[in-house]
Amino acid sequence: MELILAVVIALVVAVAVTSGLVISGRKKKQLPPAEPPSTPPTITAPPAEPHVGDEAETPREEPRRTVEEVGLPTAEEAAEAPAAVEDPVVAEAPAPEIEVPEPTAGRLVRLRARLARSQNSLGKGLLTLLSREHLDEDTWEEIEETLLTADVGVAPTQELVERLRERVKVLGTRTPEELRGLLREELIALLGDYDRTVHTESPEDTPGVVMVVGVNGTGKTTTTGKLARVLVADGKSVVLGAADTFRAAAADQLQTWGDRVGARTVRGPEGGDPASIAFDAVKEGIAEKADVVLVDTAGRLHTKTGLMDELGKVKRVVEKHGPLDEILLVLDATTGQNGLIQARVFAEVVDITGIVLTKLDGTAKGGIVVAVQRELGVPVKLVGLGEGPDDLAPFEPAAFVDALIGD
Ligand code: GDP
Repeated sequence: MELILAVVIALVVAVAVTSGLVISGRKKKQLPPAEPPSTPPTITAPPAEPHVGDEAETPREEPRRTVEEVGLPTAEEAAEAPAAVEDPVVAEAPAPEIEVPEPTAGRLVRLRARLARSQNSLGKGLLTLLSREHLDEDTWEEIEETLLTADVGVAPTQELVERLRERVKVLGTRTPEELRGLLREELIALLGDYDRTVHTESPEDTPGVVMVVGVNGTGKTTTTGKLARVLVADGKSVVLGAADTFRAAAADQLQTWGDRVGARTVRGPEGGDPASIAFDAVKEGIAEKADVVLVDTAGRLHTKTGLMDELGKVKRVVEKHGPLDEILLVLDATTGQNGLIQARVFAEVVDITGIVLTKLDGTAKGGIVVAVQRELGVPVKLVGLGEGPDDLAPFEPAAFVDALIGD
């Protein structure tokens, strides 16, 4: 009996060991060895379709919400007013409600690092190519490619290469300084000699009126808010018209910008008539004797006729008070050819008088400045170089080129 029992036990053990080996062998093939012990199933297998509410419970979201709720300054804002935090005298006084924006003169020079970071490849690439001992056909082709890759556009690229070839030939031997000087001159010439003033002075005794147009998402509302700061920094009083009634948050967003610099925002109900808001904004500007009225518009590119009807109506209604002094088209520099197509559509619908190129901090395709000016025959007047409140700079060709090639 004992012998039988011993044999049965021995058999059971043998089977268990054998099947264990097989299973562990299979397991080893299917899973990496470290995974099963370190990641319990509840965590390694999150629901395939997370619920909206789940997101808010993640530890990353919570501090962000809290900061926004209690209104603590963002990193950008904190950096703007370090004295208010550090200086106890300032800290005791009630916090000033209205901010003083940075002066606008020389902003592009101050922000050039933003450009240099993303545009480096264009300017430095060109300089390196031009410095080659033998400027053969292949090198000129590479120079052309570099310009095309940066979205300069075909015709301006060919013009520039032709000019460079001519001048390099005349120059004979070339020092790096000579080459830099030559490239600088030619790039500046390519950017053209335009009047880049944002016209905010009305010829009549009424506020200057600026209409801001562009596709939603390009940074139109942000730009309108930043432009209000530019004008306030230059000593002007501003009224804002929130005529983008299509995008739900646009009016709130604009009002926040306005409140920060003490500019009143005229707004209407969500989905309301943009033209009547624009009309009321100019009326308010006249009543307040404001210097400038900025009108943000809706930028849905549904159909060209729809866009034309909407913007045309806003323009006509505003012009009942007096002429529009500036129509700025906001374009996202990162959208390349798409941006140019948008520009074309808007230019057919309204008479654009200036271009604002946003997000130049996020692209190496700075050549779009040249391309869009050629396309519309209208100057780039302002450039957006970041999300900070004072990251909108008047466009200066020389400072722009210096940022590209270094000086
Ligand atoms: P709208 O729909 O055209 O009114 O777009 P918004 O004004 O809401 O801007 C869309 C996004 O672009 C926001 O997150 C802005 O902060 C961002 N933005 C606007 N201008 C710039 C810029 O010059 N640089 C960067 N990096 N972001 C920008």
